[in-house]
Amino acid sequence: MPPRILDGKLLAQTIRREIAAKVKEHTDGGAPPPGLTAILVGENPASRVYVRNKKKAAEEVGIHAELVELSAEISQRDLLEKIAELNSHPAVHGILVQLPLPKHIDESAVIHAVDPEIDVDCFHPENVGMLVAGHPRFYPCTPHGCLQILMRNGIETAGKEVVIVGRSNIVGKPLAMMLAQKKTGVNPAGGDATVTIAHTRTANLAEVCRRADILVAAVGVPRLITPEMVKPGAVILDVGINSVEGKLVGDVHESALELASAYTPVPGGIGPMTIAMLLENTLQAAITLDG
Ligand code: NDP
Repeated sequence: MPPRILDGKLLAQTIRREIAAKVKEHTDGGAPPPGLTAILVGENPASRVYVRNKKKAAEEVGIHAELVELSAEISQRDLLEKIAELNSHPAVHGILVQLPLPKHIDESAVIHAVDPEIDVDCFHPENVGMLVAGHPRFYPCTPHGCLQILMRNGIETAGKEVVIVGRSNIVGKPLAMMLAQKKTGVNPAGGDATVTIAHTRTANLAEVCRRADILVAAVGVPRLITPEMVKPGAVILDVGINSVEGKLVGDVHESALELASAYTPVPGGIGPMTIAMLLENTLQAAITLDG
């Protein structure tokens, strides 16, 4: 049987419709619209596309979105001042600072500067700590997108062997945490899975990956995952977005996808789900702050 394609674009549309209805309910109750401010520093073309897509998606669900564009030469002090100003603005319920930042700016200082209550990317150490402790304030967007695409396609994670290739703070590490955690009332996206994290120092990567019932590639190396790394019938989530000769490709080779029972395509898989989860966090922050 050919593998099932887990269509993130279509699912994200459904989730955005659900969010739009909840935003309407929130504002019909007299609250101001949720507000999301994206900060873009410099001229990175890919970052520009990402923030514009986020802004457009936010506006479509009734979230008031602002884009603050700052020069690549801005000093760290001025950037931190801008974030402090936005933190105290009552109409801002979510701030995201698009990464990567120019080399002279300390990414960690910027992540620490965002008020944790409106840190809708869930990068602040307070929010990471709450996630690890099993009572999350927010779920990080890309990992939550991965969980949602599994849950909403009826793919069970409890008791499954999951291998995640990649251990970044944005994708691999928080996703591993979410998948390994107990599902509870306060942690509904806990995956109850048995999780292995692989990286550049993993010995016998192919053998480790072949253990996976669910294989996640979050690497940033085009087509790294080849057929000998896939157990036939596994579910593959391809988080990678790589530009190769002007075309977007994932971290999984096309021939490896053929062995799967289901997989997320690139583009149209995890990317749109990530944006939907960002909108969900912004709405949630607005409800928490404005009632
Ligand atoms: P990072 O570069 O921060 O991390 C990559 C990880 O992959 C590292 O842990 C690295 O290991 C590991 N890795 C790299 N090469 C290999 C290899 N040959 N074998 C095993 N492990 C390897 O990337 P991100 O996590 O930020 O992003 C990963 C990919 O996901 C990118 O393509 C990015 O564009 C995409 N992405 C997509 C999103 C979406 O919405 N769909 C959102 C965010 C990212 P080590 O730690 O040992 O160096």
